[in-house]
Amino acid sequence: MNPIIKSVALSVAALALATAAHAETVKQGSDDGAVKTAATESHGKPTGQATAKKESRGKASKSAHGGASWTYSGSNGPDSWGSVSAKFAACGDGTTQSPINLTAAHAAGMSAGNIDFAYQPTQLRIVNNGHTVQVNYSGGSTMTVEGETFDLLQFHFHAPSEHAIDGKLADMEMHMVHRNAAGELGVVGVLMNIGAENLALGEIWQHMPREATPERLKNRNVVNARDFLPHNANYYRYMGSLTTPPCSEGVNWFVMADPIEVSREQVEQFAGVFGATNRPVQEVNNRLVLAPYATN
Ligand SMILES: [Zn+2]
Repeated sequence: MNPIIKSVALSVAALALATAAHAETVKQGSDDGAVKTAATESHGKPTGQATAKKESRGKASKSAHGGASWTYSGSNGPDSWGSVSAKFAACGDGTTQSPINLTAAHAAGMSAGNIDFAYQPTQLRIVNNGHTVQVNYSGGSTMTVEGETFDLLQFHFHAPSEHAIDGKLADMEMHMVHRNAAGELGVVGVLMNIGAENLALGEIWQHMPREATPERLKNRNVVNARDFLPHNANYYRYMGSLTTPPCSEGVNWFVMADPIEVSREQVEQFAGVFGATNRPVQEVNNRLVLAPYATN
């Protein structure tokens, strides 16, 4: 066998093994992670004006449902998430955490197949969960990669980006959170850099709640996650975690290699409500990262 093909085949086999090893964690992740977290947090007590929230961000406080709260700065910031709650232990002692710095240097050549996105328009269901603005998706929108189909559950945003490419953060990052029939999560990350105004994002920002609030249905507004995909479908793939507590591992990450554009005003509108919402990059350790441009 050609050595290049052989190494790629091994890479994919190793990824599959990693996936199997994490199957249990993944189920936990899908329960405690994106879905449940979003649901409970969205029912949490509104945390007041954005300005007030920013000032109190460093303070230790309890959320409305009695759980410990976490923040992006101060004493309950990312370095302390693992000790904020026993349920968040993976944030501190996990070894396959997200986000990471994506570079060709530590990556195996790309061998994974194209992602087939089949996203449908959905009525706008929008939540400010106290950490980000999230759009919940109705069923029937999927992405399929290497025969595995994931249903789109929701998408949300971070500023600046969480993943870095060659050490450089983008101005924002969008996360499209999916789950497959086995309960594994698959997240598509789309980096966003300052440039032209993003009209699809504008539709959402128009309805962005400035305070934490339960889901609001804007049934006259339709959004489509497809509008946020870059033209070039190349992506980085690796096994990681949720980037927010409980930081559950076993998450399949697909980070699109090309960014899309947003205006400076749009970034500022989001950052003005939430402040900085990026977890710092985590250790890659001995993980495999499949990269679109690597040649070895
Ligand atoms: Zn996210």
